[in-house]
Amino acid sequence: MAHEDYKEMLEAQALSALDAAEVRVLEAHLQSCAECRSQLSDWEDAAAGLAFAALEATPLEPSPQVRARILEAVRTDTTTGSRAIEAADGHRLQAANVVALKQTLRWSPAQTWGAIAAGLICAALVASLFVLWKQNREARQELARLSGQVRDAQEQLARQREAIEIVAARGTRMTELAGTKVMPGAHAMLAYDKNGRAILMAKGLPPPPAGKAYQLWFIAGGRPMPGRVFTTDASGAGTLNDQVPAEALSAAVFAITLEPKDGMPAPTGAIYLSSLT
Ligand SMILES: [Zn+2]
Repeated sequence: MAHEDYKEMLEAQALSALDAAEVRVLEAHLQSCAECRSQLSDWEDAAAGLAFAALEATPLEPSPQVRARILEAVRTDTTTGSRAIEAADGHRLQAANVVALKQTLRWSPAQTWGAIAAGLICAALVASLFVLWKQNREARQELARLSGQVRDAQEQLARQREAIEIVAARGTRMTELAGTKVMPGAHAMLAYDKNGRAILMAKGLPPPPAGKAYQLWFIAGGRPMPGRVFTTDASGAGTLNDQVPAEALSAAVFAITLEPKDGMPAPTGAIYLSSLT
């Protein structure tokens, strides 16, 4: 065999794609040919570089069928193309082909494990993102809840401040409302200044049923004038800021009924509290 024929076996040897007889023949030639030894060494270095690049990959030996295909592909390549390419930088181009083959056929286990590892990492990332998203959502909900509490407290404080202002003002009148037989435990105090600015503080009124609210009425000359609606909390307490109509300022009766939640122009429900007992 000529030196050129051995050269064509080197890339197959670098792929471990030669059979035992071919390996023996090639090794015999390598003993006496420094150029082929050097070229084989170059390709083995390239293969080692690929193996390092594959990190912990453990390439498997190709099956006999795959091995035959590699050999066939390499031989076809060298017989059709190598001599023409050799004039330029044939060794390098062929090496590139071998690398491509190696990547396709010997890296597949590495790629498989790589894909599995990437899948696991991706799943872990998705899981931790979900945890973060959940924590973030819980934190937001807590913040919203606390903001709501602060807002409620501020509103309550503002009402109390106004109540104190009204109660402390000169000429303010205080009227007590007592529960009727519908709600005997209920009690309320209505304070209103000389301009009719009023605050109602009720106790012992259970929270109204869904869609309902308590409504304040100013009754003057036998005619009920609608006030605002309010609800009570779980403790049965509620407050209401309102404006006493001018007609009701000097002499009036005050009453509280249960009405639809938006209030009514005239009372429709039972009287729960009244200033007349
Ligand atoms: Zn040689």
